[in-house]
This record gives sequence, C-alpha cells and structure tokens, in this order.
Amino acid sequence: MNKKKTRSTKFETNAVRAGTIRSSQGEHSESLYLTSSFIFESAEEAAERFLNQETGNVYSRFTNPSVKMFEDRLAVLEEAEECVATSTGMSAILSCIMSLCRAGDHVIVSRSVFGTTVKLFDNILSEWGLDVSYVSLSSKDEWQNSLKKNTKLFFVETPSNPLMEICDIQFLADLAHKNKSLLVVDNCFCTPAHQIPTRFGADIIIHSATKYLDGQGRCLGGAVLGNSFLMKKVRGFLRSGGTSMSPFNAWVFLKGLETLKIRMDAHSNNANKLAVWLEQNKKIEQVYYPGLDSHPQFELVKKQQNTGGGIVSFKVKGGKEEAWNLINNTKLLSITANLGDTRSTITHPATTTHSRLNQDQRDLAGITENLIRIAVGLEDIDDIKADIN
Ligand SMILES: *Cc1c(COP(=O)(O)O)cnc(C)c1O
Repeated sequence: MNKKKTRSTKFETNAVRAGTIRSSQGEHSESLYLTSSFIFESAEEAAERFLNQETGNVYSRFTNPSVKMFEDRLAVLEEAEECVATSTGMSAILSCIMSLCRAGDHVIVSRSVFGTTVKLFDNILSEWGLDVSYVSLSSKDEWQNSLKKNTKLFFVETPSNPLMEICDIQFLADLAHKNKSLLVVDNCFCTPAHQIPTRFGADIIIHSATKYLDGQGRCLGGAVLGNSFLMKKVRGFLRSGGTSMSPFNAWVFLKGLETLKIRMDAHSNNANKLAVWLEQNKKIEQVYYPGLDSHPQFELVKKQQNTGGGIVSFKVKGGKEEAWNLINNTKLLSITANLGDTRSTITHPATTTHSRLNQDQRDLAGITENLIRIAVGLEDIDDIKADIN
C-alpha cells in the first residue's frame, strides 16, 4: 500500500496532505468524484448502508469522497473535530442555526456581520420563532447585558466587514459557556492561516469557502466546524435539508487550501503596505485595518491574529460623490462585491453589500456614504497604489 502519513503538527504540511483519500489507482493529486450515487455489492449491503451500520457512501447529498477530503483537511487546519461542507456560506449559517436552535430560543448576533446574515436572521429565522438581539461586536457590556436564560448561541465575525472591528474571542467564549451557550465565529476574513478561533474557546466555526478558501473567485461553498456531537446534528440537517456542497466545488476548494497560507501571507503583506500608504494621504479621513498600530484594538489583534489580513477599508473626505468618483476612476481594481480573490476588488458598502439594511442599521454598524472597502489582491502593490492615486 501507499505510504499514509497525512497528519503533521505544521499547518503548511496539513494544508497539502491532510484528509487525502487515495483510490486503488494510486493517483497522486486528489481525485474528483463526480457521482451522485454509489453502488452496492448486494441488497444486504445496500440495506446496511442505509441503516448506517456499515460505513460507506450512499448518495452525494450525505457523503462524497471529494467533499470528505475537503472537510477533513479544513477540520485539521481549524483544529476542530469535524467539518460539514455546505453549498454556500449562507447555507452554512442556515444549517448551523436550523440544527442547533429551536423556536423560542434566543441568539445574540454582532451588529457588524455580513449584510445577508442580518437578513437571514431578521427575515427568515425570526419568522420561525427565533428571538434575535443585536449588540456591538466589541462592547463587552452589551454582550453581558443581552444574555437571557434561553440564549442558545452568540454569532460573530472577527474582524468584521467592512470596518475591521475585533472581538475578544476568549472573553465571549467564557461568557457564553458560563450561560451554557455556544460561541459561533465566522472565520471568513482571517481563515485558519491567520486565526484559529477554537484555540480561544470558540465552539463553532463558519466559513464562506467562496472567499479565501477558493481564493480565485470560482466556486460557491461553505463549511460548519465543531465537535462531533454538534456536527452530527448539522449533518442530520444537511442530509434532510439538502444544503450539501457539490463534489466539483469541494475539489476546487481542496486545491485552494493547498496554497491558502502563502496566499494569505501575500494578501496581508500587500494590504499592510496599502493601509500604511493610505493613512498618509491627506484626502483620506480614516483607515480601518487591524495591522495598523493605530487600530484601537491593536493589542487584541496581536493576541488573536497572525496578521492584519487582506481587507482594508477607508473613508474619503466628502460623501458618496467623492467615494463613487474614486471607485469610478480606478482602471485596474475590479468593481465587485466579492473578496478573497487574487484580483483586488473595490466596493462601496453602503450601496452594495449593506444596501439592504435600513438607515438605522447602517448607522449603528458605522457604514457611512464615504466608506470604501478594498479586498487587496496579489497584484504588485505599486500598481494597486498607482490605480488608487
Ligand atoms: C460572503 C460571506 C458570507 C456568505 O457566503 P456565500 O458563500 O456568499 O453564501 C458569509 N459571511 C461572510 C463574512 C462573508 O464574507
């Protein structure tokens, strides 16, 4: 048989080797299993598989080897027991809440989460009887004061989009656990290459694999990670709810994980240079980047994150007109709301990613009309600066 050492204590080794399943053909690069179902040797074997008495594949809505390789590799990188891959980042959040919460449960959500996440909680999950409170991501008092006996979980993104606010993961995990609640962290912005929330006590990790895990803007996907007990529930929801990841996308993400660390380091290096340069420009009112020592939570950033990450936001002097003017005059940067691509993207959050929030929600989240977000890509930094200049 082939040598089978696929686990290490080192991130870079696991990123290229963990979770590999090699078929009898002995392929070196992971296979793409494009099949919806799997065959059985006999009626008896089929019956046993359906009863889960025998491990093995049945149908790709539940398990597929390409998806399993992605799940196992990401679980190792996030230092979580198990991973359940989903069709999108949003379906990861939906699968997580539907499997762990019931009507009448209370959840506390950071006000600074992805716009569609707010819509999911407000327009859909609330209609199903979930009681949702919003608090400021970094205000410890607000988290403490919003706790109820029936608070099932806390939901955060850190750093937040687009203002790069940070929360103290350890503090929130301790607070949640004292109340028998769970802490859910959407780790989309840092990825495990630069932040491992389970080390600070987070119970569940959410990913939009669409972003940095793919890294080249090709596929939609997501993931939920946590201990086996919780993930068994999430997998049960996926099996009946059908929020499964496509094997093709899983294979693309698996390849993405192999270069995650070097890409994240490069994104972050570029972003850091851009943030320092923007801070010196007189036409810029304020720069939001966790890697700057002017960031109000810089000490916490150093505790939790390896780097500042790849996203820089800033406010231009003026309003929407000045912001749109800057965006419209770029020749290199792509005007698109996506992030985590090799190509730099420029976004006006107030009228795109956060446009479906009402004015009050935008004001509370600090999304002003003069705010611009850049997801810094892998182009030469001098070309990026020249374009913005
Ligand atoms: C994009 C994004 C999502 C949603 O992911 P999709 O794959 O687009 O469904 C969730 N959370 C964060 C932080 C995101 O950036």
